[in-house]
Amino acid sequence: MPFTPYHMGPGLLVKAILRGSFSLMVFGWTQVLMDVQPLIVMVTGQGELHGYTHTYLGAVLIGAAAAVTGKPVFEWSLSAAAPTRRRRVRVTWRVVLLSGFLGSASHVALDSIMHSDVRPFAPVSSSNALLGLLSRSELHDVLIYSGMVGMVLYLVASAIASRPNKRFQQKARPSQVDSGKKR
Ligand SMILES: [Zn+2]
Repeated sequence: MPFTPYHMGPGLLVKAILRGSFSLMVFGWTQVLMDVQPLIVMVTGQGELHGYTHTYLGAVLIGAAAAVTGKPVFEWSLSAAAPTRRRRVRVTWRVVLLSGFLGSASHVALDSIMHSDVRPFAPVSSSNALLGLLSRSELHDVLIYSGMVGMVLYLVASAIASRPNKRFQQKARPSQVDSGKKR
């Protein structure tokens, strides 16, 4: 199904692991671009449903296109979210390219399991070894649970990351009192 939110599940999990080295926004934008072709085919009723966009070769091109077009939008949205910063927030090419390629490659791999017309290695080979690896409902469960685990991990990691400052403040107070007594 075009623009399926299921593809975001693994993205949330990767975001929880890679955090600042990964853009969930570029990853999501890649999912939208990947399914433009199936959407056009569904609307017009012409052409292959998945075709060359759902190959690893197509994934390289779409991942790169998502990175190039997503970078300025991602930077603008980060800058808008932090208006107190004087400079515009910059995101490295490494982050957006990694997010785009992970988004497009994972999309091809997951659709290869579910859709019989996907030829991930075309034009080199028409084989699809992943087809039927999981049933549709099993695959959806995996994607939903990976998203839930990713979200929980991200929130827990964020909570832990914000704790050292509090500890530091708590430790700092007695020493401040001590130094006050010595005077
Ligand atoms: Zn797709």
